[in-house]
Amino acid sequence: MPGQWRNRPSRPGSAFSVAFEAMLSIMKVLLIEDELAIARMIERGLRPHGYDTIMAASGGDPVVRTALDEVDLVLLDIQLPGKSGFGVLGDIRRIRSELPVIMLTALDDLQSKVSALDGGADDYISKPFAFDELIARMRAVTRRADQRTSAVLGFGDLRIDLLSHRVTCGNQALDLSRREYALLEYFARNPNRVLSRQQILTAVWEYDFEGESNVVDVYVRYLRNKLARLGLKDVLVTIRGSGYRFDPSA
Ligand code: CA
Repeated sequence: MPGQWRNRPSRPGSAFSVAFEAMLSIMKVLLIEDELAIARMIERGLRPHGYDTIMAASGGDPVVRTALDEVDLVLLDIQLPGKSGFGVLGDIRRIRSELPVIMLTALDDLQSKVSALDGGADDYISKPFAFDELIARMRAVTRRADQRTSAVLGFGDLRIDLLSHRVTCGNQALDLSRREYALLEYFARNPNRVLSRQQILTAVWEYDFEGESNVVDVYVRYLRNKLARLGLKDVLVTIRGSGYRFDPSA
């Protein structure tokens, strides 16, 4: 069918290989390239590096719209049938503005390189290219994208989203008050460190508390009870005479 590549069916895997791939968290790449030989070559070259490639022969290929919801990166050729790579880039940016896009340009085509970057591509690479260079550029743009969008502290199943303040353990959400969240975030930013009550007060309550106060102990107890309900029983350790320590491996 013109304008459409047949994508490789996903490989059946043993339980081990499935678990192993989940651990590596396979990156998904959308490759929009109309020359089948080049597309196949790129797909084969990316596979051993842990990239799963979805191929499309043009921006109008129906696979593009669904792929854009799930991929981590786009490799986009400029010379495409129908809409050029620059036009497709604009479409991609309207759907997912943060998605890393690397454009494939012809060697020595300075104007295309400038237009690619001006048009919102994260990077470009000239064809023909060395695979090591492509992989390095792909790593660099996804790393930058992660830094832009991800602000999550993760300890095993426990995930603390620093932007939305959502805390989850596995697929269970933890319902915390504002102060409990602030306390957990402070512990999570300082794992395996003994934190004195005064340090915790200053950081979480934002004042120097004069005299006796058991407010820290009270809130640690609240937090402990909530974490225990999700199976995280001993992550907040009392250090007698000193304070508390967040031990995420417990
Ligand atoms: Ca082309």
